Amino acid sequence: MAIGSGCVEHRLNHLARSTQPTPQSVIIELETKNFVLQPKFLISQLNRKSFSILIQNLGEHLIFEKSIFYKACCRDFPTALLNAKHRYSQIYHSFILAQFGQACTKTVRDSIQTLIREFQSASHQKSKKRMTIATQEKLQYNWKHVISLAGLHIGALFAFLPSNFNWTAVGLTVFMHWITGGLGITLGWHRLLTHRSFQTPKFVEYFLAFCGALACQGGIIDWVGLHRLHHTHSDQNAIDPHNAQNGFWWSHLGWMLYKGPAHAEIARCTKDISSDPFYQFLQNYFLPIQIVFGVLLYFAAGWPFVVWVIFVRLILVYHCTWFVNSATHKFGYRTYETKDSSTNCWWVAVLTYGEGWHNNHHAFQYSARHGMKWWEIDFTWMTIQVLEALGLASKVKLPAK
Ligand SMILES: [Zn+2]
Ligand SMILES: [Zn+2]
Repeated sequence: MAIGSGCVEHRLNHLARSTQPTPQSVIIELETKNFVLQPKFLISQLNRKSFSILIQNLGEHLIFEKSIFYKACCRDFPTALLNAKHRYSQIYHSFILAQFGQACTKTVRDSIQTLIREFQSASHQKSKKRMTIATQEKLQYNWKHVISLAGLHIGALFAFLPSNFNWTAVGLTVFMHWITGGLGITLGWHRLLTHRSFQTPKFVEYFLAFCGALACQGGIIDWVGLHRLHHTHSDQNAIDPHNAQNGFWWSHLGWMLYKGPAHAEIARCTKDISSDPFYQFLQNYFLPIQIVFGVLLYFAAGWPFVVWVIFVRLILVYHCTWFVNSATHKFGYRTYETKDSSTNCWWVAVLTYGEGWHNNHHAFQYSARHGMKWWEIDFTWMTIQVLEALGLASKVKLPAK
């Protein structure tokens, strides 16, 4: 006798209602790839292997059919398993319904206990996930970032006015893109300070850190801390500030528009730089430094230079840096099977002086060299080699051969 799934649902729901939703009284529902435990209010993913072991141990008592959903109801455990087969044998072809009882062998009972433990841990995970979702729902806007990023983008649009065009200003913009994005952020803030891939004399370190501050990407201590957190929690949770699992736009710029939980973790992972007075100065005064730079440009060269060298350059360097968080967790190829979604992407490497070999970087975070193959051009690695040749870089770290 064929019984439709609607009827099965009804019967299972009736069973679920008729018992207390204790771990022993759950409806186990398997749909396509996922096992789902559902005592009415709970849906959690289960370990397929342990469920398979349970099913194997139940042996002849259960019959499975592919392509439809399978269900098993563990009710009033322990009661008669064998009876269940008898009672529901006519509907085995469309679903499984069984009551596990005292007739269970020890192996079956162990399997069920394992399943119940997983059920409990899955419930725990689920409630944690719910908490995360609840936290995300309550995310508050970081208005300082929303307004400043909007303002800078609008300012950059003034470059389209023909009266603001000036070739010298464009050339200086490209040059300052390299100084602030290449020497500052990539070489200084990322490879030197965040990952300590090499060492330099203090004056070189401070010079590179200052160049990075001119990119106006927030305080240096915050930047280093957030990036370290990205590596420790890559794609796992909200402590990875730009968790790429939340989508391209979130990892590109969306994350900056909200106050995230990662900020509370920064102090814990920046102890090596947070007590340095120069870094404290850059942390607190990166914005006044930028304003002074803009005022100097205005008086020395005029408004078009402010539009290009401040607004356009900042926006360009921003998006180049952000592509490392977004595009190189989405586009390109993977050389190493890292636990995150990082990729190697040639055009990001071009825009960021070598940072686009991001999968290599996630695999060997301490390495001063990110481009590992001869054709993975890494301009910053070349710069480090030049510094080394000049005696300005030492203890350069590379992956073990
Ligand atoms: Zn990454
Ligand atoms: Zn990194």
